[in-house]
Amino acid sequence: MTYRPNEPIRQRLGLRPIINVSGTMTALGASIIVPEAIEAMSEIASQWVEMDDLQRKANTVVARLTGGEAGFITACCAAGISMAVAGTMTGTNLLAIERLPDDIEGLKNEVIVQLGHIVNYGAPVDQSARLAGATVVPAGTVSITQDYHVREAIRDRTAAGLYVVTHHSVQYGMLSLEEFAAICHEKGVPVIVDAASEYDLTGFLARGADVVIYSGHKFLGGPTSGIVAGRKDLVRAAYLQNRGLARAMKVGKETVAGAMAALEAWEKRDHAGIRRREEAALEVWRAALAGRPGIDAYVIPDPTNNPLDRLQVDVGPDSGYTAAGLAAALASASPPIMVRNHEVERGHFFLDPCNLHPGEEHTVAEALVALLEAPTRPANAMMVPRKNSAALLAWPD
Ligand SMILES: *Cc1c(COP(=O)(O)O)cnc(C)c1O
Repeated sequence: MTYRPNEPIRQRLGLRPIINVSGTMTALGASIIVPEAIEAMSEIASQWVEMDDLQRKANTVVARLTGGEAGFITACCAAGISMAVAGTMTGTNLLAIERLPDDIEGLKNEVIVQLGHIVNYGAPVDQSARLAGATVVPAGTVSITQDYHVREAIRDRTAAGLYVVTHHSVQYGMLSLEEFAAICHEKGVPVIVDAASEYDLTGFLARGADVVIYSGHKFLGGPTSGIVAGRKDLVRAAYLQNRGLARAMKVGKETVAGAMAALEAWEKRDHAGIRRREEAALEVWRAALAGRPGIDAYVIPDPTNNPLDRLQVDVGPDSGYTAAGLAAALASASPPIMVRNHEVERGHFFLDPCNLHPGEEHTVAEALVALLEAPTRPANAMMVPRKNSAALLAWPD
């Protein structure tokens, strides 16, 4: 199947034909859905199916790919966290499932999370636990967690430990998954791992997680979805939340079928070939930026060791831009180019090659060169980024 990067639907809807060098971003549409998933979704769309049976089939696929005893598909990773946490509170008590999140009498309801893991990926991760009616108990400080911070926090009311794997979290001074899991397991507390955008489908369960949750729409290239995998009793208790709070996180047959197809496509994907194309894109950008005044560009590995490199672009005043100013100019280019700008106040952004349509790497290089070689600079070229929610609050205007 060939993709046309400027497919007519965006024109028809009046949407900008953006190029994504930002990463797998919910705000930019989450993923390029792989052809196998698109096909499965469109095939099942007009058919009746028994959803529990469809999820039984998903269970088999998820278990095979993750090494977990069981698994299912839900709306997204955030939904999966709420469901897994709720499952550790209710077990298979169907009445307790209907009573969540406010009536928690008699249930364990505390979830321990290292403070350096309480991140915002677009929403606060602790809110997923709070949605289930859990109380989040932060362990340690932002810069360090010791074993006793977790061990001594565990008590009768502790339902679970939540461990978050992400570039957003503090990358030093935290307990490793092995350490965190060992402490929780000493006291019989299950460990839920948020591995939303991690490529490693087997490693977290192998290293001590009891339940692991992935986004189906990040590296997997599935439809917007979440994948829950792990210990069968905990997965079952999480799945049963579909009769309760997860009704508000309903997953459709097309999503389940699409996520299953994306998982199976992942098994067969030419990972080495994709890596080579990503490396070639990085080289195109590095070469385009080499020797330009005020610009320093170099390849850096992924912070959580996913098999993915990015180009870090340091932007100094000799370029006539700040990092924020150059990112804004790219976002206003034609076509608009969205860079990875979550650290832009530190004077750099990243170019992420993992969501390109063929040839787009050259469009990005040309836009960079054009902006840096232009005789004049846009008015906001030297802008300093400020936190400002005015644009958010103006929606839908
Ligand atoms: C993206 C992300 C999530 C949310 O995943 P969704 O599937 O979009 O709900 C949760 N945790 C982390 C660390 C993430 O990166």
